[in-house]
Amino acid sequence: MKITVVRTHILQAALSQSFASSRGWYDTRTAMLVEIETDQGIIGWGECYGPARMTAAVVDSVAPWLIGEDPLRTDCLWQMIYARLRDHGQKGVVIEGLSGIDIALWDIKGKHFGVPVQQLLGGAQRTEVVAYATGLLRRKADDPVRYLAEEAAGYVAEGFSAVKLKVGFGVEADADATRIVREAIGPTVKLMVDANHAYDSVAAIRLGRMIEQHDIGWFEEPVPPEDIAGYRAVKAALSIPIAGGECEFTRFGFRDLFVSRALDIAQPDICAAGGLSECKKIADMAEAFGVRYNPHVWGTGIAIAASLHLLAVLPSHTPPSLTPVAPILEFDRTEYPIRQAILSEPIEHTRGIVSVPDGSGLGVEIDRKALARFAAR
Ligand code: CA
Repeated sequence: MKITVVRTHILQAALSQSFASSRGWYDTRTAMLVEIETDQGIIGWGECYGPARMTAAVVDSVAPWLIGEDPLRTDCLWQMIYARLRDHGQKGVVIEGLSGIDIALWDIKGKHFGVPVQQLLGGAQRTEVVAYATGLLRRKADDPVRYLAEEAAGYVAEGFSAVKLKVGFGVEADADATRIVREAIGPTVKLMVDANHAYDSVAAIRLGRMIEQHDIGWFEEPVPPEDIAGYRAVKAALSIPIAGGECEFTRFGFRDLFVSRALDIAQPDICAAGGLSECKKIADMAEAFGVRYNPHVWGTGIAIAASLHLLAVLPSHTPPSLTPVAPILEFDRTEYPIRQAILSEPIEHTRGIVSVPDGSGLGVEIDRKALARFAAR
């Protein structure tokens, strides 16, 4: 089998209501999908996290290297692309581009052998995964005390057993928001907070001490990803587990992060950190270092499907026992018109549980009408 065509699809959709993380306001969302065709008629789909036009430029530049190559040689092609760009792209958009290519190759491999990707990655430890609701961002012209409590209670009513609150909007405001959400969801639903690296270690420790009483599942990206000493200071000062890694890349980046003991929970994004090939290697390293792995997921149904296949094969966080702690799926509940529209069948949750797709490859079908509808001008 040979690769014949590599295509990029830049998609864009306006939001009905803008929302904010600590990093800024958003009124549109984009996606960058990779489509790889073969001479045997099999087509694979992948997705890149990150700035869509930049990752598309990476994939379009790499495409000629892939034409004529055997798509089943996933590790070899990964290493070929990485080695050719090593001097210029050990992190960032180059690896994000490589990630989308790698995921598409795994989709082809699964379709070629007629099995789900999880089977090729080692086989499913689990066929369904507990999902946590990512939401609770900020909106304009509303009272956050009211809408955060309502939104959080809504997730619990839908059956989610864990929710994540965005923080990073000022320590006092964050502490209020955390208390309000904890009161809204009750004592048993898990609550995580995510600052999107809005703080330095001084502010993060101050916030952590104010919210420790609310039984926080993890404190995500408390400080900028470059500030490893800051991560370690926050981790040492708080009883809350510290999470991060959505801005880190490849086995090499995570090796350094694991050696530094900066994290309790690593969150590589499959569409950014190097694809399925690389994230399986990172996951194996995480286990060896005793670091939990819960992937970052902020994409379309392709990103969700790829993450589910990896989550299916990961060992539980705690060793096999009667009550193992299993890795969980980040399930973005914020407005994203592209997310499920590109799939012929959406990947939905039932009472906060999501099934791993059981079709061959990633197990998803792409709706080309939706690609045309959301194509960026
Ligand atoms: Ca995050």
